[in-house]
Amino acid sequence: MAKENPFAPNPKLKVYLDGELVPVGEAKISVFDHGLLYGDGVFEGLRTYNGKVFRIDAHIRRLFESAKAICLKIPMTHEELVEAVNQTVKANGVVDGYVRLVVTRGVGYLGLSFTRTANPSVFIIADQIELYPPETYTKGMAVITSSVVRNHPNAVSPRIKSLNYLNNILAKIEAIDAGVPEAILFNHMGFVAECTGDNIFLVRNGEVLTPGVNEGLLEGITRGVVIELLRKRSIPFRETQLTRHDLYVADECFLTGSAAEVVPVTKIDGRVIGDGQPGPLTRQIMADFHACVRGNAV
Ligand code: PMP
Repeated sequence: MAKENPFAPNPKLKVYLDGELVPVGEAKISVFDHGLLYGDGVFEGLRTYNGKVFRIDAHIRRLFESAKAICLKIPMTHEELVEAVNQTVKANGVVDGYVRLVVTRGVGYLGLSFTRTANPSVFIIADQIELYPPETYTKGMAVITSSVVRNHPNAVSPRIKSLNYLNNILAKIEAIDAGVPEAILFNHMGFVAECTGDNIFLVRNGEVLTPGVNEGLLEGITRGVVIELLRKRSIPFRETQLTRHDLYVADECFLTGSAAEVVPVTKIDGRVIGDGQPGPLTRQIMADFHACVRGNAV
């Protein structure tokens, strides 16, 4: 008999699974699904604000790109996926929440060959979101740099949002062990890539800097929105290679992600960033981002 799990999902949830909304207890994937056996699949993490899914088209486009890169044919169209996500959000009464959209390779023989699988599974979970505590946003977050190197772009490219997140989990273990919520990973050349579940930006001499998309990172939807907001305000911005030293001497630092939104970072490996408070440009971007997700453009 399985022990009771304190982290079990809300039993009232309805999960979309292969065309149907089913009670969470019936939302089951086979032990022969290659998504489980090999991490062979792709996913998206989306946000809802006021019951509306934020930047849904961009997320679904990225899902199709991730799937294409691993030769996975999603058995639904873009429009059908949009409809299924919206239906799941509505069925669960989610207002300000989180959506997880997953496509697995499907059930097949044991063995790596994707030609011996059939029927990729599509499932969607829409639930409440657990944000960082409010003081993280007002006071800032401490992070560490990880000893784990971000996947080489010619291994499982970090641009693929695949079900294989072990590399990121290894870095997350280091963060938790150090008593902080996030870790920064460097790429195989020693330049800053991103965090375990967020992209990273620095501010130096009034200019906002972030690694380019081929530096070993997921091209975050939030990262893209922040870049749009910077351009709208004509704030100097550049994609560039960044080193550990650039992190330590930055005037400001912030992370971006669908779940995290825009989070100020005020300490990296024990070095205080700026004056130890969220900086003025970070606060401006946070305010602009909040206005944007609520439909109040800058
Ligand atoms: N990097 C990684 C590794 C991620 O998993 C995520 C999403 N959690 C991000 C960056 C941020 O991407 P987005 O803004 O699209 O959520």
